[in-house]
Amino acid sequence: MKIKEIGEFGLINRFSPDFLKDLPEQTFGIGDDCAVLPLNQKESMLITTDMLIEDSHFLRHRILPEDLGYKSLAVNLSDIAAMGGIPAGAFLSIGIPSDIEVEWLDLFFAGLHSLGQETGTHLLGGDTTRSQKHLIINIVVVGKMQTSNIKYRSAAKPGDEVYLTGFVGDSGTGLKIIMDKKPLDASNRYLINEHNRPRPHLEEGQWLANRNSVHAMIDVSDGIDSDLRHIMDKSQCGVDINLKSLPVSDQMLTACRQHNWNSYELAATGGEDYCLLCTIAKKDGKKIAREFELKFGRAIYPVGRITTNSHKLNYFYNQKSVHFREHGFDHFI
Ligand code: ADP
Ligand code: MG
Repeated sequence: MKIKEIGEFGLINRFSPDFLKDLPEQTFGIGDDCAVLPLNQKESMLITTDMLIEDSHFLRHRILPEDLGYKSLAVNLSDIAAMGGIPAGAFLSIGIPSDIEVEWLDLFFAGLHSLGQETGTHLLGGDTTRSQKHLIINIVVVGKMQTSNIKYRSAAKPGDEVYLTGFVGDSGTGLKIIMDKKPLDASNRYLINEHNRPRPHLEEGQWLANRNSVHAMIDVSDGIDSDLRHIMDKSQCGVDINLKSLPVSDQMLTACRQHNWNSYELAATGGEDYCLLCTIAKKDGKKIAREFELKFGRAIYPVGRITTNSHKLNYFYNQKSVHFREHGFDHFI
């Protein structure tokens, strides 16, 4: 059997049960945005890792080195944000092809350093090796938080409302603009910047984690279509999404109109937006949304609801059911 027949998550589901057996108490392993290890009675350590490989995750000659450094850390911090955690330190393992200029690497490290400074994430170690052809970047981030507030993918409850902390589809549209070499007007530059320099929603994640009515949380890395399926798998529920309520930017809509791209499909399956998706008890949704807006000066957007329809992700447009050709991102399918 070839890996494309089962995909990235089929593979993870094949090997993970053996490793999930016999975990020590209060330890959480494979299956969420971070692993959780208890530190003491009240606090836990969060650990996450993500790898970026040249030509699979980025094109070295189409991203500024400082943006790549920033993004490599940002995608990991986004997983800490998804549990509600506070980052503490990072490790960087890097495989470097010999044709890279040292000055290029200086800028890569400057980008990584600037986001580390902004977020209190100290680079604590790593490993440096030679790679034959591709630049390979693997980062581990360690964080901590109050154990009782950790938000898991498994905590969604039927009736919960589904919320997003930011726009979806900008990054996926930015990627299409990069790949198709579209002209660089201000609007396209915004979309490319969203793709190359995503902001991890750490403060939003910490704020949401402090609220008991916020149940499940995940970051939008593979596209809400794929990320909602993780919530459905772990919470044994279904989801109804109202396509018209997906928050999208004007720049994204303009690009989609210009190039005849399906904005709804891009919003649902584009991926790499790195905002947060959470489910909130229906009775508290509106209140939390108001408080969120007061706190951050930005909206948190209601986009759908959790249902008892196990494993059914339904999209609606004017109450009519809609199906997409694409699903979220999987490395092998
Ligand atoms: P994320 O997108 O939040 O980084 P993924 O959806 O990629 O997480 O991964 C799902 C879960 O599978 C995570 O808990 C991750 O740590 C785990 N996982 C992925 N690949 C491996 C691997 N090679 N070995 C062990 N665990 C893995
Ligand atoms: Mg994640």
